[in-house]
Amino acid sequence: MKQLTHTELLELDAQYCWHPFTQMQTAAPPLAVVRGENEFLFDALGNKYFDAVSSWWVNIHGHSNPVIAQAIAKQATELEHVMFAGVTHPTAALLAEKLIQHAPAPMAKVFYSDNGSTAIEVALKMAFQYWQNKGASDKKRIVALEGGYHGDTFGAMATGKSSGFYDPFASWLFSVDFIPTGGCACTEDDALAALDQLLAHSASEIAALVIEPLIQGARGMRFMRPAHVAELCKRCEAAGVLVIFDEVFTGFGRTGTLFAAEQVAQFGGQADIICISKGLTGGFMPMAATLTSQPVFDAFLSDQVSHALLHGHSYTANPLGCAAALASLALFDEESTWANIQRIEATHQRWLPTLACHPRIENPRVCGTVAAFELKSSHSQYGSSASQWIRQTFLELGIVVRPLGNTVYWVPPYCTAPETLENAYQTLMHVLQRWGSMNAPSPGSELF
Ligand SMILES: *Cc1c(COP(=O)(O)O)cnc(C)c1O
Repeated sequence: MKQLTHTELLELDAQYCWHPFTQMQTAAPPLAVVRGENEFLFDALGNKYFDAVSSWWVNIHGHSNPVIAQAIAKQATELEHVMFAGVTHPTAALLAEKLIQHAPAPMAKVFYSDNGSTAIEVALKMAFQYWQNKGASDKKRIVALEGGYHGDTFGAMATGKSSGFYDPFASWLFSVDFIPTGGCACTEDDALAALDQLLAHSASEIAALVIEPLIQGARGMRFMRPAHVAELCKRCEAAGVLVIFDEVFTGFGRTGTLFAAEQVAQFGGQADIICISKGLTGGFMPMAATLTSQPVFDAFLSDQVSHALLHGHSYTANPLGCAAALASLALFDEESTWANIQRIEATHQRWLPTLACHPRIENPRVCGTVAAFELKSSHSQYGSSASQWIRQTFLELGIVVRPLGNTVYWVPPYCTAPETLENAYQTLMHVLQRWGSMNAPSPGSELF
């Protein structure tokens, strides 16, 4: 491959690439990354950046982790890919076993796909067809939480419609019933009342509830108590409505346990279907899985093909992805990974009081390795200029952040060294000071 200079890379990108979630006319030039190591990214000029958002929340054990890299390289020379219809292979079977061993009850089966959005599409299709196969074809409504984000394909967009990301597509999205998030004690009752009312009147028409357990990520790191999520689950179970957990973000240790579902289970709530993706391969390969209980799987068994889940992707159960995921899961078996997760949470907790009394900050919060807060601004809205200012200012100081509107957050890779995170908090104090002393632009509406 041709070696590009920093300038050549940016020119080539500007000529040919169209970036996600980006207004290409006004966006600052992208960060030109040529190398990653542990929690750091390096640009073509040799500058080093702390990846404080784990590259859109996918990275777990650090960039270019040698154990995962070697697992992929070894797999690539044995079996790079084979279709998964009528065929199986060792990494897919071993990974499925490991996922079910690690997943909370009652997960029993693994359906592979490619990314978080497809994991959600699969879950929705399973839920719809589950009821059809059982002869309850009226059960085709979906309930979701206000502000939830489930991905960018059409079914996922429909369930995340209230996030406001999808206005241009609104007329093509199937209708979904939204209930309040219940993000604080004062709105939990409203959320439960809204769900109760829906279930009382329409349970016979509702297929499933879709929920990001504990953290609504893209909405701006909105937290929910596990006891509240459990309440929602219990009510659905009692009313004969399936529960889908979207753990695309919360899975693989982000909330302090391997799955957020484990914390919900402590309060007696459980899902019938769990979607996982981002951290699944440690941030190396695009891959996802939709886990289901035995009863969900069993509803598709019949002597008729039409009762089967007629869904699949060319790269379903890609062996390179499976090998990466197996290596990433094996790293969770090492104590140091969990010690790192606890250390990151402890650092967040230690800084919490400082953030709580900072005049520029509102609502600082911590859930596992995730820390977030809102920027306070007395200025009126100036579009997305403030998000860009924050991003650019942090970048100049060697840290990659990506505010969600006026929400700033840390989602570091677990291998992040203590001094790197500590330094990031010091830098935050410095940035907030600049933010306060200048006529800073107001927090913007930048998405994702
Ligand atoms: C990122 C995300 C998705 C979508 O995953 P993609 O791999 O980007 O399609 C779905 N749900 C949640 C909770 C997410 O954070």
